[in-house]
Amino acid sequence: MKFDPKTGDFDNVKPSQQNHGNNPNLHVYSARCAWSGPISKVGKTKGEQSIPCCPHCGSVLFQMDENKWWADAESWEKQGHANYVEFWKWSEAQPRCWPTVEEAAVEFKKATGKEVVLR
Ligand SMILES: [Zn+2]
Repeated sequence: MKFDPKTGDFDNVKPSQQNHGNNPNLHVYSARCAWSGPISKVGKTKGEQSIPCCPHCGSVLFQMDENKWWADAESWEKQGHANYVEFWKWSEAQPRCWPTVEEAAVEFKKATGKEVVLR
């Protein structure tokens, strides 16, 4: 997957999803940290070629359809990954990101008393 700074799109998205980074139905997740969220919450990198990034640490992002993201999360939870959907909802509401999902899961447990089964 490659980000094209000229169009603001990733090369793996279907033509129907391409609208130069302004599709409100896109869900984005970070390549280098555990941040994930709706396209409306992304940051922008500094400089001439400003591209969407993690609003907390500036990591570049992957993107997918917002509805598919949550459908996949629900499906994963039904396959025995307890609290998976709640974990991501909680994570998105936090004012920071974590280097790994495992670290985010530790904080989730501290905050909610619930264990998320990631794998
Ligand atoms: Zn981040």
